[in-house]
Amino acid sequence: MNIDAMREKNRQHWIHPVSSWLDQEHSNAKLLSSGKGAWLRDAEGNDILDGFSGLWCVNVGYGHESIVQAAAEQMRRLPYATGYFGYASEPAVKLAAALADIAPGNLNKVFFTLGGSDAVDTVIRFIKLYFNVTGKPDKKHFISLQRGYHGSSSTGSGLTALPAFHNGFDLPLPSQHHIPSYYPYRNSDAQSDDEIIALSVTQLKEKVSELGPENVAAFFCEPIQGSGGVIIPPVGWLAAMQRACKELGILFVVDEVITGFGRTGPMFACDAEGVSPDFMTVAKGLTAGYAPMGAVFIADHIYRAIADGLPSGELVGHGFTYSGHPVSAAIGLEVLRLYQEGGILENGRKVGEYFGNQLGKLIDHPLVGEVRSRGLLAGVELVTNKALKTKPDRSLKLGEKILAAGYQNGLIFRAFGDDIIGFAPPLCCTPAEIDQLIVKFTKSLNDVL
Ligand code: PLP
Repeated sequence: MNIDAMREKNRQHWIHPVSSWLDQEHSNAKLLSSGKGAWLRDAEGNDILDGFSGLWCVNVGYGHESIVQAAAEQMRRLPYATGYFGYASEPAVKLAAALADIAPGNLNKVFFTLGGSDAVDTVIRFIKLYFNVTGKPDKKHFISLQRGYHGSSSTGSGLTALPAFHNGFDLPLPSQHHIPSYYPYRNSDAQSDDEIIALSVTQLKEKVSELGPENVAAFFCEPIQGSGGVIIPPVGWLAAMQRACKELGILFVVDEVITGFGRTGPMFACDAEGVSPDFMTVAKGLTAGYAPMGAVFIADHIYRAIADGLPSGELVGHGFTYSGHPVSAAIGLEVLRLYQEGGILENGRKVGEYFGNQLGKLIDHPLVGEVRSRGLLAGVELVTNKALKTKPDRSLKLGEKILAAGYQNGLIFRAFGDDIIGFAPPLCCTPAEIDQLIVKFTKSLNDVL
């Protein structure tokens, strides 16, 4: 099919995720056709550096033949095996064990999902079950952060706190509440790291007190807010929030769907602060985007309380046809091998440091108000007046224009609204590729000046 015909069929038939339906009816899709390492090629033959790892997921880069082999072998041998009714497959068992091995603290139980949204929904259901079977049935309220993203399933998208995910969808639910994001660059109530952390703790405590601690089940957060604009908390924030949750008698859930698997340096962002939550969600980097899969880690004490609290033999009625899909699991195992023995995690750590230093130099650009990064995850604040931190007027459509210029210059990244640009390059990037990313991004900024 020629490119124009493909674009026309796309306009007519494919409803794209998180898209403007009206705009899409008139859009010219950028058709991606192949990839190798950190590079993509589009249908017109342009080579483009992927500064966003697909959708923060292709951590190992494109075109790994060993992953293709692992998937093909598993498909040939056994393309599907259910985890229901006492059945199991070797790759799913091995992957669950390997994940428990690398997970923080006592997160030794793994429940497989298809991605991040159903991982979040799984946690919500398991938390309700936990409090029901442990005699605290009133604990049904959930708290998360403004600007947080926890997927777009019918319940989890209420914990997400971005307007497009609520508007028109009757969300958040009455049991879902949000406290302000720490957002250091735009936090007008706290300046120093200690003040910012203390403010978040106070805001959580106030919200729990307003709802009544006996009614609050859990606090959900990302270690770094991804889709909210790559907003990075001060070091120590995650551990402080965990301590506050313990004190308040509520569960602490960390959503590592973006930050997991080396994105910020360590295997999990929790590792950097010695945090071991009650539940942890992962997806994306788990299979590096080569097949859909997510997972929920459950701490031993939570699992034990649910298992012991249920009447003997009672089913926990939660699961998916593709929970622990053997092909995804085989891919997950090979991806884990590449992170560890293949040196990709180590490379990501080294290149992440270089990336942070090089991107940081853009602070002198007239459109840049702040550059923030941790590992290979970065956000750039766009401003029209640095001293006043003035956000670009929406009518300028600056984010959209920089994005378009980026593609023209052979670079993919992401714009969050009109005022934040995000990067999440693959962990396999070389320093030379980071140099190219910086040159292409700088040119894209200059193109819209
Ligand atoms: N949680 C976080 C932190 C995410 O960033 C995402 C997706 O970007 C999700 C959950 C939802 O994951 P999925 O899109 O795989 O359903």
